[in-house]
Amino acid sequence: MSETGGTAAAARPVALVTGGSRGIGRAVVETLARDGYDVALCYQSNEAAAELAAKAAREHGGRVLTRRADVTDRSAVRALTAEVEDGFGPVDVLVTAAGIIRDSHLAMMADEQWDDVLRTNLDGTFNFCKAVVFPMMKRRRGTIVTLSSVAAGGHATQTNYSASKAGIIGFTKALAKESGRSGLRANAVAPGFIDTDMTSGLSEKHVKDMLGRIPLGRFGTATEVAELVSFLASDRAAYITGQVFQVDGGLVV
Ligand code: NAP
Repeated sequence: MSETGGTAAAARPVALVTGGSRGIGRAVVETLARDGYDVALCYQSNEAAAELAAKAAREHGGRVLTRRADVTDRSAVRALTAEVEDGFGPVDVLVTAAGIIRDSHLAMMADEQWDDVLRTNLDGTFNFCKAVVFPMMKRRRGTIVTLSSVAAGGHATQTNYSASKAGIIGFTKALAKESGRSGLRANAVAPGFIDTDMTSGLSEKHVKDMLGRIPLGRFGTATEVAELVSFLASDRAAYITGQVFQVDGGLVV
């Protein structure tokens, strides 16, 4: 783990962001740091990207902590959560941005493609939420923002990904219902096509097709998603829970 920068001001709320090394998670890390949080982020393997994310977040003040922790590894998840609580204090905000795609038509889909996507996207969300939810309930304070996708509605060649992202919506709504009276809020953000490494491999034809279907005529930026995440995490959204918010340039209306 690297713990970097800032002052240990007791008043700063604490955020934990999964998949914070790149893309949407990285933008969330920076935005939350800007908005006054101490931020811990986890990543799978890209240490260099994680350090860059930490460096950018540090510019906004506060403490930043990075840790390689696979969201599918429950003991690593518990260890990281405990380390964040010990080092920074109780987790006020959890954002579950870690996610992968392994696209294929179902007929050709290898078992591993299904397993990897469901384990990372859905189980990974469960693992981190499970680790923070009881302490949040005890404190009667906590906000969770999960990352779903417009693909939850069903995208061809993405039965695995679509199932995982639809699962995250059901999970988030159920969590909101069962924990609202304990002072927790849980909401899902469902991006459309966002300019990150995840979409950088799309074929030219696919990109052209999608651009033709997006009313705003472009892919979104990770920052445009992060702004909504930070709003939902904050007390400005104190009466919002159990919702799914699309950030998709009007793709699904
Ligand atoms: P990305 O650029 O590919 O970044 C993925 C991030 O997740 C990286 O930080 C990666 O860590 C981390 N990660 C992957 N597997 C992990 C694991 N097992 N344990 C811990 N960390 C792991 O993805 P993105 O585009 O920012 O997507 C972020 C989230 O938004 C995902 O849940 C994705 O499904 C969702 N989403 C994205 C789009 C889009 O258009 N980009 C649209 C809808 C929804 P490393 O850097 O170490 O690899």
